[in-house]
Amino acid sequence: MKELLGETAVRAARYLAAIGDRRVAPGVEDIARLEALGGALPEKPCDPAELLALLDDIGSPATVATTGGRYFGFVIGGTLPAALAANWLAGAWDQNACMRIMSPVSAKIEEIVMEWTVDLLGLPPGSAMGFVTGTTMANFSALAAARSAVLKRAGWNVEEDGMFGAPEIRIVVGEDVHVSVLKALSMLGLGRSRVIKVPADGQGRMRADALPVLDDHTVFCIQAGNVNTGAFDPAKEICSRARDAGAWVHVDGAFGLWGAVSPLYGPLLEGVGAADSWAIDCHKWLNVPQDSGIAVVREPEHLRRAMSWGSAAYLTPSTGREPSHSTPDSSRRARGIELWAAMRSLGRSGLREMIERNCRQARLFADRLHTAGFEILNDVVLNQVLVSFGSAEQTLRVIAEIQSDGTCWCGGTQWHGHTAMRISVSSWATSDDDVERSAAAMIRMAQSVKE
Ligand SMILES: *Cc1c(COP(=O)(O)O)cnc(C)c1O
Repeated sequence: MKELLGETAVRAARYLAAIGDRRVAPGVEDIARLEALGGALPEKPCDPAELLALLDDIGSPATVATTGGRYFGFVIGGTLPAALAANWLAGAWDQNACMRIMSPVSAKIEEIVMEWTVDLLGLPPGSAMGFVTGTTMANFSALAAARSAVLKRAGWNVEEDGMFGAPEIRIVVGEDVHVSVLKALSMLGLGRSRVIKVPADGQGRMRADALPVLDDHTVFCIQAGNVNTGAFDPAKEICSRARDAGAWVHVDGAFGLWGAVSPLYGPLLEGVGAADSWAIDCHKWLNVPQDSGIAVVREPEHLRRAMSWGSAAYLTPSTGREPSHSTPDSSRRARGIELWAAMRSLGRSGLREMIERNCRQARLFADRLHTAGFEILNDVVLNQVLVSFGSAEQTLRVIAEIQSDGTCWCGGTQWHGHTAMRISVSSWATSDDDVERSAAAMIRMAQSVKE
């Protein structure tokens, strides 16, 4: 075991050391070589060291270098050294985070992370949290709590009696709602299509002058950090209107909520802390390994009611917080450990520095591209940049060139009728040199397409 883990560390370190020099997306040949991992299932066991060598030789070149400094696709983030180290040790521990009695260390670390998270993000102390796989599941879990609370107020027990015959719930979302909120609504029996959509402005923010009438059977889903522009819905206005009406406000704050750690971006989030629930991603901007997110609910009883199991003689809850009563999962890995490692290794100032640096780098990208004559389509308020390289066709060709060139990686999007390239700066590993190299490659490619 010791030799195997030592060899693993050597190979992993070699992979990470080379990541700055390799192309970001794997080549076609690298992907084709993955066939070597298949074939008929071997009849006999094999030596784990041989298997590791095969996985590294074939698998490593076919990875997408998302954990390096020049991946700007989607919103992904890398892995901080302390978070990776904690992930390895936690892998060796192989804890089941389901119940306190199965893993006191995981249960305790989750409680510590809960305190640090409310402190860092300005959320209500004492909020309940479920440690889930990402924001999709965090949206699902928090909206399950919202559904439970709103129906309970109307005299309906959705956990026992289901949705058939239940009083109606009104769901309000913005025109630029993230698809994961709609997916969560569909999984909860609330439907993707029966939502009320609030018109958005040019940055994708809900228009405060176009809010519908709210009441106490409304769940209002707002966004802190639009996945294209980084813009924030007007939380202060919405939360105060919702409070007067008795409506529930849920915040999809996947990456944007991390802006709260910096006084520079705090004003964008004004009022967000007055909501009832929040969904946060940790594998994005906190830079822990995939997969990791947190569902946060102000009133713990609602998450607990939505996520508790019925009774089973062998699963007796302990006193205190029982982790499985906050998540859709029962058995799961102890992903709180990496959050603890990331937060403790960076500290408040390190986290703030990382967020501010990434936002500054986004502005640097926008500046370089604008100076080279290309149009920036959004107000760069956070870490997201939308750029057009001319016509839709030209922009798509530039994106394809950038992806195959390999210096960096960006994807495309449609933004209010324009075809655009998205740049998301969300990795601790991104240096200013990475930004300059990548911007230069983008400009080179865009000019060659123009000619
Ligand atoms: C990424 C993202 C999600 C979905 O998060 P996953 O971690 O992929 O499940 C939801 N909302 C926003 C705004 C996001 O950026």
